[in-house]
Amino acid sequence: MVKDGMIWDLSQLVENTDSNIVQKQLDRMCSEAGTIRDKYYGKISNLDAKGLLELFRTKDTYYLKCEGLQLYCELMYNANSTDKIAKQLNDASRMASVKVGQSLAFIDIELGNLLAKNPSLISNPTLAEYRHYLEKLLRRAPHLLSEAEERLIIAKDKNGIGAWELLQSEWLSTRMFEVEIEGKKKTLPFGEIRGLYESPNRELRRQVDQVLFENLGKDEIIWASAIRAICEDHKQMCKQRKYPTAMTQSLIANDVDQETIDSLMNTIRKNVGLYQRYLRLKAKLMGLDKLASYDVTAPLPNASVEYNWSEARKEIEEAYKGFDPEVGGWIAEMYDKRHIDGKVRKGKTAGAFCASWQNGKSAYILQSFNNRMGDVYTQAHELGHAIHAYLGARAQRPSNFGTGSCMAETGSIFGELLLTDRLLSKAKTKEEKRAILARVLDKFGIAAFKVSARVFFEQSMYDAIEKGKYLDGETVAKLWAASRSEIYGDAVEWLEVTKYEWTGTPHYYFANYRFYNYPYVYAQLFVFALYQLYKEQGQSFIPKLKKLLATRGSKSPRELAAELGFNTAEEAFWQEGMKQAEELVDMLEETLKE
Ligand SMILES: [Zn+2]
Repeated sequence: MVKDGMIWDLSQLVENTDSNIVQKQLDRMCSEAGTIRDKYYGKISNLDAKGLLELFRTKDTYYLKCEGLQLYCELMYNANSTDKIAKQLNDASRMASVKVGQSLAFIDIELGNLLAKNPSLISNPTLAEYRHYLEKLLRRAPHLLSEAEERLIIAKDKNGIGAWELLQSEWLSTRMFEVEIEGKKKTLPFGEIRGLYESPNRELRRQVDQVLFENLGKDEIIWASAIRAICEDHKQMCKQRKYPTAMTQSLIANDVDQETIDSLMNTIRKNVGLYQRYLRLKAKLMGLDKLASYDVTAPLPNASVEYNWSEARKEIEEAYKGFDPEVGGWIAEMYDKRHIDGKVRKGKTAGAFCASWQNGKSAYILQSFNNRMGDVYTQAHELGHAIHAYLGARAQRPSNFGTGSCMAETGSIFGELLLTDRLLSKAKTKEEKRAILARVLDKFGIAAFKVSARVFFEQSMYDAIEKGKYLDGETVAKLWAASRSEIYGDAVEWLEVTKYEWTGTPHYYFANYRFYNYPYVYAQLFVFALYQLYKEQGQSFIPKLKKLLATRGSKSPRELAAELGFNTAEEAFWQEGMKQAEELVDMLEETLKE
C-alpha cells in the first residue's frame, strides 16, 4: 500500500476492512438497536433515576460501538465517491442508520413525556452527568404535539415546505451563467461562478456580480413563492406549537436565550462603524475610492504566498504548540497517524470538514490542499475542530458530546487566530502582513456583520407577514436591501441587481431550519472575545479554554461563559470580541505607515 502522507488511513476505524465483514457488522448494528427497543419501548415512563442512568449508559455504549463502522463507510465515500465499493458501503451505512433512527426515535419522545410529568428527575444526583441533556429535552417538550399530529406534519412537510426547499435547490443548481474570462465565453453553474469572486481581476468580478444576480432576479417569482410559503408555514407552526416568537424554535435548538441574542445583535448594531472603517481601509489598499459589492471579499493585490504540505504542517503545529504542548502533541498525532486527507483528486468531496471519532478519542479531516494561504487556514480551522474532539472525547460520553451551533466553532476559530499571530510574527513584507490581516478581517466581517444583516432580514419578513403584507419578489428584495444597508451604510457601492442576493442563499429555504444565521455571529464574536481574554490573562487562560472545549454540550453556552466570569446577556462581553477585531484593523492601518 502506498503511504502518502497527504492521504488518510481509514483502516484504524474498523477491525477489518473487508467489505463483506463491514456489511455484516452493519446488519448487527441494526439488530442491536432492535434489542434496545425491545427492552425499553413503552417502558421509559416507569423508569426511576437508576433505570434512566442504565438506559443512557446503554445508549452511549451502543453509539461508541457503531461509530467507527459508520465513519469508515462515510469517509471512504467522501474520499472517493466514484469507487463502487465505497458507494455501496455508504448506501448500506445510511440505510442502517435510518433503520436505527426509526428504532430508537421513541427514546427522546418517551423521555420528554416523563420529564414533563416529573421534572425533578433533572436535579436527581444519580443523573448529574446527564443534567443538561435532560434540561434540553424538557425545554422542547411543551412544544411537541401529539404523536399523530407530529406524524401528519412530517408526512405533509415532504410535499409542502420540503418541496419548496427542493425546488429552490434544484432550480439554483441547474441555472447556468455566462461570463467572459480572458476573451473566452464560459458557461458555469452557480457553485463555480461564485468562486470567481476570489479572482484578482476586478472587471471579471464585476461581470460575475452582474450576470449572477441579474439572472437569478429573472426568476423572482419562484424564489419569492418559496420563501413566502416557508415563512408563512413557520408562522403557522409557531402558533400551533405555542412558540411566542418566530425565533423561539431556533433559540431552543441552539441552546441559547433571547436576552443573549438581543445583546449580541445590539453590539453588532453599535459597531457597524468598525466594520465600515475596515472596508474603507481595504478600498484604500486596493487603490479604490470605495469598495463595490464585488470587492468585499476580493483578495488584496500582490497577496499570494504559497505553502507546501510540510511548510503548512510546520506553521500550524508550531502555532498550536506555542499555545499548549499537549494540544500541539495532538496536532502532530493527526499528521503522524494520517488522519488528514489533503490530496487533490477526482471523486473527492469538495470543501472541508472534520469528523469527530469519539471512540478513538481523535478525529479525521478532509480538505483539498492547493498550497494557498487559504488552504493553510482551512487546515488550521479543521484541526481546531479536531482539538475540540480530542478534549471532548476524553471528558464526555456521547449524549453530552454534541455542541450547539453557537459553540461548535470555538476550537476552530481560536486556532485560526493562533495561526494568524504566528504568521504575522514571521511575515517578511508589508504585503504579506496585509494579506494575512485582510483574510482574517474579511472572514470576520462576513460572519459577524453580513450574517447579521441576514438576521435582520429574516426578522423583517416575519414582521411584514404579521402586518399582513404580501411577500412578492420586489418586497422581499426591498427588505433585504434595507437590512443590508443597516450594516454597510454607504461604505460599499452595491450593484442594483444584488438586491436579489437572498435568492441564492440556500439556508433561507431549508425546511424547519429558521434563523440559522445568528449562531455564526455568536461564534465569531465569542471566540474573538476569548482571544482577547487569552491575551490579557496569558498562561492562566489556557486551562480554562481547554476545560471549556472539553465540556462540549454538557453545559449551555451561557453557563460556559459564566464559568469564565462573563455574562453573555450583557453587551460588555460581546464588546470584548469587537476589541479584538479593532486591534486587527489598527494593525492593518499601521501597515500604511511602513
Ligand atoms: Zn468549522
